[in-house]
Amino acid sequence: MKRIGLLGGMSWESSALYYRLINEGVRDRLGGLHSADCVMVSVDFAAVERMQVEGDWDGAGRLLADEAQALVRAGAEVLVLCTNTMHKVAEQIEEAVDVPLLHLVDVTALAIRSAGLTRVALLGTRFTMGEDFYRDRMARHGVETMVPDAAGQDVVDRVIYEELVRGEVREASREEYRRIIAALAAEGAEGVILGCTEIELLIAEEDSPVPVFASTALHAQAAVDAALEEASR
Ligand code: GLU
Repeated sequence: MKRIGLLGGMSWESSALYYRLINEGVRDRLGGLHSADCVMVSVDFAAVERMQVEGDWDGAGRLLADEAQALVRAGAEVLVLCTNTMHKVAEQIEEAVDVPLLHLVDVTALAIRSAGLTRVALLGTRFTMGEDFYRDRMARHGVETMVPDAAGQDVVDRVIYEELVRGEVREASREEYRRIIAALAAEGAEGVILGCTEIELLIAEEDSPVPVFASTALHAQAAVDAALEEASR
């Protein structure tokens, strides 16, 4: 089993979910008392969020590249960046290390294409929904993404930063997300990407009229696959 390096803390609420899902995945595959061989760095999210707001993506990239190197020094053989948004600086991280980074957008796109879909809604932070880095990479896989209107994007982003990353799961917010997903499905979305690693704390398959692609669950599963690649041969 390969050692998985988790770049976490963005936020720790979703990193905790990654940790659980990866360990459950290894247990299910190997049985008995098996659990994942993994190391995590968990950064102070306040510092990262400040850099996001200030547009200091270069600084954030440097920080995460340094932490990725620390994971490699700790023996990590495959890296998992536990946030959609910070994949904006994935290249900076990749350049700093010589082990593979399991790119969340690639993993999610593969699941969408495997389900036979090409046009899906994308919910995430304002950076993920509004900038090119995520949607362009999806497009390279042949997946077209639709995002909520401006008011809807504000709601989705606000719930992430003011509630979910603080561990608050509110029924009223679930209702708002359901309404936003239903509207996008009515406009032709064949599925919905939960493109922020905390959204699956709020939204599940039953909240959507179209299939849900939960980025944390998919990414964690891919990490288990990567770690056990040798073992399952
Ligand atoms: N975890 C979130 C994501 O997947 C948002 C927190 C962050 O900005 O990193 O995008």
